Amino acid sequence: MRPIKHIHGDEAPHWVGDGFYVKTLINHLNDDANFNYSHTDPFLLFDYGMPTTFAPNPDYKTQPHGIGLHPHKGFETVTLAYQGEITHADSTGGQADILEGDVQWMTAGRGILHEEFHSQSFGQRGGVFSMVQMWVNLPSTHKLTAPKYQTIKRADMPIVALKENTDDQKSIGTAAIIAGDWQGVTGIADTFTPVNLWDIAIHDAGATTLLVPNTHNTLMLVQEGEVLINDTEVSAGNLIQFAAPTQQRTDIPAGQAPTSDSIKLKLVEPVNTSDEPAPTTPVKLLLLSGEPIGEPVAGHGPFVMNTQEDLRQTFRDYQTGRFGE
Ligand code: MN
Repeated sequence: MRPIKHIHGDEAPHWVGDGFYVKTLINHLNDDANFNYSHTDPFLLFDYGMPTTFAPNPDYKTQPHGIGLHPHKGFETVTLAYQGEITHADSTGGQADILEGDVQWMTAGRGILHEEFHSQSFGQRGGVFSMVQMWVNLPSTHKLTAPKYQTIKRADMPIVALKENTDDQKSIGTAAIIAGDWQGVTGIADTFTPVNLWDIAIHDAGATTLLVPNTHNTLMLVQEGEVLINDTEVSAGNLIQFAAPTQQRTDIPAGQAPTSDSIKLKLVEPVNTSDEPAPTTPVKLLLLSGEPIGEPVAGHGPFVMNTQEDLRQTFRDYQTGRFGE
């Protein structure tokens, strides 16, 4: 079993633009007793978008909620819409709506400018908005790759059943494989380093076990509900950081797969206080794991490079209109 190292969740929420009310649960710029980037590498940052209710916006066409044109360089932004919809437009001419259940995997690479707003349809009707965005680092060999994005529709994610840890192997939930490999089932996201991203839902009481490579840094968000993770109770809005990998990929002979660590998930049946059976509250989780890149990081604001000199050059380029060249 991979033990829990720390649970991130106490951070105060803040607004990103006027559209995203988020708690930044990890940030590579922090370095304290509870956080060190080497333990989450390649995941630089994780914003948990708190479920937030927006009124219908009658001024959508002139004042949509969100954040206007801004740059990124040197990494990827991965955005999942849980409730509500996001419209994205960027300097490569790319434009897409991220609808409920969809994922956008944007590679900033050598530089991109983009805007992120509520979609027109969601903005005009209003409602509950909830999303997450994470930043995935790029290795130095691909830091200056051409910017691009992948739209990963919910319908294109393979869905695997979560089997109960009992003889009858009843299915108690599902995992949508966005990226990486689930015992031979692979997600369609193209990644530059090995990364798993699994969108998990548990709908029945019971216990099940996930397997992750023992070479990966591993994190798990509780997006909704309450669940026992390796026998520790965790509620929505918390990001679990598991203990460091026990093996490095370079220690494993080529062609051999790393061994797996288990993570036990258990959904507890609510206590029944009336004659009616109490409904089980569904649980949503997001599993992130990745092979550490293991390179130095020099980051500031929306740029993440390998050295301070590269970072200074990026700011100079941005100020002189040579960004992304
Ligand atoms: Mn952005």
